Amino acid sequence: MRDFIVGDKDTGLTGRLKIKAVELGFNLVGVTRAAPSPALEAYFRWIDAGMHAGMGYMARPDRQARRRDLNAILPGIESLIVVGLGYHTGMIPPAILEDPARGRIAAYAWGADYHDIMTPRLEALAEWLAVEQGEDSIHRVYVDTGALLERSHAHQAGLGFTGKNTMLIHPRRGSGFFLGEILTTLKLDSYDVPGRATMCGNCTRCLTACPTGAFPGPHVLDARRCISYLTIEHKGWIDRDLRPLMGNWVFGCDICQDVCPFQRFATPTQESVFYPQDVTRAAPPLLDLLALDEAGFHARYYGSPLYRIKRERLVRNACIAAGNWGNRAAVPPLEALLGDASPLIRGHAAWALWRILGGDARSLLVNAQRHETDQAAQAEIAGLLG
Ligand code: SF4
Ligand code: SF4
Repeated sequence: MRDFIVGDKDTGLTGRLKIKAVELGFNLVGVTRAAPSPALEAYFRWIDAGMHAGMGYMARPDRQARRRDLNAILPGIESLIVVGLGYHTGMIPPAILEDPARGRIAAYAWGADYHDIMTPRLEALAEWLAVEQGEDSIHRVYVDTGALLERSHAHQAGLGFTGKNTMLIHPRRGSGFFLGEILTTLKLDSYDVPGRATMCGNCTRCLTACPTGAFPGPHVLDARRCISYLTIEHKGWIDRDLRPLMGNWVFGCDICQDVCPFQRFATPTQESVFYPQDVTRAAPPLLDLLALDEAGFHARYYGSPLYRIKRERLVRNACIAAGNWGNRAAVPPLEALLGDASPLIRGHAAWALWRILGGDARSLLVNAQRHETDQAAQAEIAGLLG
């Protein structure tokens, strides 16, 4: 993995820092001066257009101020160290992942929660740096938790270019990386230079492959239409027009990465914790997901990235995937979910039944409507009965 380290011939502090990062297991590391991201204005235009969807925290004035001036995050900040840790396993064949009887999970979530793996390593790297430098310094560690445009800073640190799919792409390793950052008040003895802004050329594969049309243009992702946003971040009702386009995805979506020609360079990660224990961690049968209760969800997903969306959102997503599967085998568990404690699940189960059974679902839904106490679920069923 050493050959992927940017500027690793450097024998000064920055060079030794990179060697330490590799010893800690990171695959990519680069350093950049702490300056506002050059992508900032485009980011604010994106926010103004509402493409951050329900992620209101992104538009909060305090977070915008931190993005404009990194000193608002860490006063006296001098440097940003950006690391990448590969998660690509390539272990599960597409025929299984694309089986409509299974719910598909994005590859980054097949194993352990990356926050638990990345954060202690970044802390260890920051502490090593502070001792090595022998100066008082302050640092902060982020694993996609801070008000940072991390892909842009990763580009500044020489880790890759930004694809039209908005991902950070390493030209010789693809985009299957978790990113993390150390913000520090230490000055380093050398800094990396950004590579080319993009290497996409005339390619538009990701833009045309997106099933929901979530790219209004190159390098712009409208989260309101993105399956990844809808299945993970979005807490409420999923737009009825988008549901049929979501296929069997129940957590995230990899399509715009999978079709990218740079993904052919992806090499399997050496982190065993990112490998799925078995095929059900990547593509569980939908019938199992529909039958999950709270205890079952906890037992199966504690310690996994899926745990943060809780049972309600996962079963909601499974209802949509079951509707898209269209198989009558899903009818009994969906019917049982009409009586679930969650109105969100009840409503999405009703939609799935309607999609599978068409007019044959009418008596089931009329009955469900009679007992429905939640206004939004009532509206959902009424909309189906039309
Ligand atoms: Fe489209 Fe999926 Fe990429 Fe989102 S993650 S932009 S839905 S292809
Ligand atoms: Fe760029 Fe093509 Fe990859 Fe999209 S699929 S990010 S256009 S190289």
